Amino acid sequence: EAKRHGGNTHRVFVPSYRAVADSRRDLIRDLREAIQTQSITLYYQPIINAQTRHLAGFEALARWTHPILGPIPPDRFIRLAEEAGLMHDLGYALLAEACCTARTWPQNLWVSVNISVDQLYHRSFVQEVRKILKETSYPPKRLQLEVIETIFMESDAATYGVLQELDALGVRIVLDDFGKGYSSLGYLRFFPFSKIKLDASFVRDMLSDSRSAAIVSAVIALAGDLGVAVTAEGVETEEYFHRLSNKGCTEVQGYLFGYPMPKERVASFIALNSRRVPFITQSTLQS
Ligand code: C2E
Ligand code: MG
Ligand code: MG
Ligand code: MG
Repeated sequence: EAKRHGGNTHRVFVPSYRAVADSRRDLIRDLREAIQTQSITLYYQPIINAQTRHLAGFEALARWTHPILGPIPPDRFIRLAEEAGLMHDLGYALLAEACCTARTWPQNLWVSVNISVDQLYHRSFVQEVRKILKETSYPPKRLQLEVIETIFMESDAATYGVLQELDALGVRIVLDDFGKGYSSLGYLRFFPFSKIKLDASFVRDMLSDSRSAAIVSAVIALAGDLGVAVTAEGVETEEYFHRLSNKGCTEVQGYLFGYPMPKERVASFIALNSRRVPFITQSTLQS
């Protein structure tokens, strides 16, 4: 083969299909084991009321540190779990874990849990949410479920049915990553979302690009008119915070206020931020 190319062609190493398939199979095997041994844990990232700067709640984010490969990004292992048919078990364990943990927090704080398409369309999903709420005696009002727009790839009737049932339980439904894909306003018209999360890509560009800024303003205004809260993701500096707050954004989430942290750190984080003036950051003190 190399000879046919003249022998001196620069060859890039391309792992064979077989090698890729093997490593994928190994990773799935390790993932299955990690789920069974409960080695996949949740970190919690604070979400702040953009008008009062008070702590509002936390988003639960899954973390997996592979014994050899190190931390695997959640985007990656969640997709792998879906493809391998493991997401149902993993999702159930994580939801139960989130409710169990959040039950120990002050009553004004909620927890927001990401739900994958696979989980939502599992026939017993609603029943399982009900079961978890009951077993952990966690108030449904303090649970948010974050879904992304790919849930609408299924029939509208099926999607509407599940969301309605969850809504009837008293759980809040949040539309995550709004603006990232083909976000249609139709979703907002037909489904009972209580909150929209504005994708970090718009937030990131809003200070340098007037078109992104216009879209951010429009989404916040639209949400306001619909009576739906809006959370901005990826808020990393005070300048972003002030712009978003002035535009009337409901909540903000980002490294400015806190990184995702293990549950052991959450208690002291809550204590610290209820004792002092809420979320005065270093840059506020300097300006
Ligand atoms: P997401 O639900 O949109 O979560 C927000 C992501 O933004 C998280 O990434 C978070 O760590 C990151 N982030 C937060 N603040 C900032 C910031 O100021 N700057 C930047 N650059 N990033 C920030 P993470 O934890 O890597 O999660 C990625 C995605 O993986 C999530 O996006 C979600 O779609 C998925 N995911 C994570 N945990 C779960 C889970 O338990 N179940 C499901 N189904 N999906 C999950
Ligand atoms: Mg999310
Ligand atoms: Mg998001
Ligand atoms: Mg995302």
